[in-house]
Amino acid sequence: MVLADTYNRPINYMRIAVTDRCNLRCIYCMPEEGVPWLSHSDILSYEEILTIVRAAAAMGITKIRITGGEPLVRLGIVDFVQMISQVPGIEDIAMTTNGIYLAKYAAGLKKAGLNRVNVSLDTLDADKFQRICRGGEKGGHITDVLAGIEAARSAGLNPVKINVVVMSGINDNEILDFARKTLAEEWHVRFIELMPFTGHNGRTPSGLTAREIKQRIDPLGKMEPYKHKWGNGPAKYYRLPDAKGTIGFITALSEHFCFSCNRLRLTADGKLRPCLMSETMIDLREPLRSGVSEDQLKDLIQQAVNAKPMGHHLSEGRKPNDRPFCQVGG
Ligand code: SAM
Repeated sequence: MVLADTYNRPINYMRIAVTDRCNLRCIYCMPEEGVPWLSHSDILSYEEILTIVRAAAAMGITKIRITGGEPLVRLGIVDFVQMISQVPGIEDIAMTTNGIYLAKYAAGLKKAGLNRVNVSLDTLDADKFQRICRGGEKGGHITDVLAGIEAARSAGLNPVKINVVVMSGINDNEILDFARKTLAEEWHVRFIELMPFTGHNGRTPSGLTAREIKQRIDPLGKMEPYKHKWGNGPAKYYRLPDAKGTIGFITALSEHFCFSCNRLRLTADGKLRPCLMSETMIDLREPLRSGVSEDQLKDLIQQAVNAKPMGHHLSEGRKPNDRPFCQVGG
């Protein structure tokens, strides 16, 4: 079964935010004081998410990414992955995490049916980690993330991809260090262009374009395009000469990839969002709680698919103003 939008793009991928809560407060994602958390009853139960996944899978969704907030702070996440893995039609399950609790869960997640993880890590410096992620005693430390990456690799959640949001004057001096990591070790580093989002209060960091990032890597040699079979995403991958790992670029601003967008996003409070950058949302929570039939649920999912815009307008300075990134589900 193929699900397609009005521009004939096949839609086979759903990103699910299982919580809006996070143990970190990254400067580009969340205000320092945090955001008011949704109440327990506001967020979808695992059973409700499963009902949506079953309907979506019957329509053509085959790939799921579990995200948040921080997915590993939600209790029962390993059992939830196992339930998703049993839904007919779901072929691939991945997760995006800050990695703080990954060492604890990696083996269990793999056993439950998770295929891969992306781990967010914007610096290799312990003090800077605290400044960017505002982790501290309760949030966690860079050592937890590094241990999580190793645990994920040992558990077979490969390839483990490292997401680095590049910010001018904050971590752009580490571009080379991250690139060097890919030489000796099987690190798959993805440099992400910073997207403007509601939620940065105070000074908003400014980003670098992929082109600027590539120029910084030039001293390490010529990067060759790298063809791969993993993932569903828009990153373009390269490899430095003789490197064990790869370097990817996610160019949401400088070279958007909307023409190949294959995704829908489900927020923790049950809104189906056709586009990360648009404020349009289709509510599934109230219909689910009022006893919607499977066919009616499919109609609502189809409405979200039909509402997918051709593209976003970030490069023209427009940004979604309704929610910070952490409440959309990155
Ligand atoms: N807590 C998890 C994590 O840290 O990976 C999952 C949620 S987080 C919102 C998902 C991804 O969104 C992370 O890789 C993060 O770096 C990215 N992200 C958040 N805000 C962003 C922004 N303004 N621009 C670009 N990427 C952003």
